Amino acid sequence: MLRLAIQKSGRLSEDSLKLIRECGISFINSSLKLKTESTNFPLEILYLRDDDIPGYVADGVADIGIVGENVLVEEGMQHLAVEQLGFSKCRLSLAVPKSDSYSSISDLQGKSIATSYPKILQTYLTENGVQANIHTISGSVEIAPSIGLADAICDIVSSGSTLISNGLREVERVFKSQAVLIANGGLDAEKQEILNKLLFRIHAVQRAQK
Ligand code: ATP
Ligand code: ZN
Repeated sequence: MLRLAIQKSGRLSEDSLKLIRECGISFINSSLKLKTESTNFPLEILYLRDDDIPGYVADGVADIGIVGENVLVEEGMQHLAVEQLGFSKCRLSLAVPKSDSYSSISDLQGKSIATSYPKILQTYLTENGVQANIHTISGSVEIAPSIGLADAICDIVSSGSTLISNGLREVERVFKSQAVLIANGGLDAEKQEILNKLLFRIHAVQRAQK
């Protein structure tokens, strides 16, 4: 039996469940339960917060998982990645108040930037030779400039409408993300065999969608 961790409720949940179903794997989904077993494939599904998924897979509590690359990279767990899944596409972008003048990344030198992704942001700033003060906050990042907490933000963007409604303008794309399948590096032969079967089915689903 292979244990798969997926997000309990959020932007990854629906498409993660859909992918598993499209692989012909049946299970009874109850939003009240923390885990379910498939009725026709040796798979158990654990429902967790997305941020906890890389750690649980690294520790072997779950064997495999589905998580956003943004969370995986922020947690320094890129080595667990097996396969990009093509959904939950978004990007991490820098944004400034729309009335601020901005011509290049060097305009952020010495400024303060609010984000929930301090490591990814620091890497990007270092690559671009910019020193800024990063304020790590866990939510509602987009209001930080309007309350005087920061000069700029680095946050998840998909359509950009949240930025616009908060009076912000996207100025740099920092990181592109999509959902990714991750796996513990030390699976035994039996679990590896189940994972191979699952990957075979995922590839068939992906080919059919092209
Ligand atoms: P949890 O309660 O599990 O911690 P969360 O609030 O941290 O959830 P969500 O907002 O559900 O997370 O986002 C989960 C992941 O989905 C993000 O890490 C990102 O990879 C992706 N994502 C976030 N926002 C969008 C979006 N607008 N469009 C597409 N994908 C997104
Ligand atoms: Zn989360």
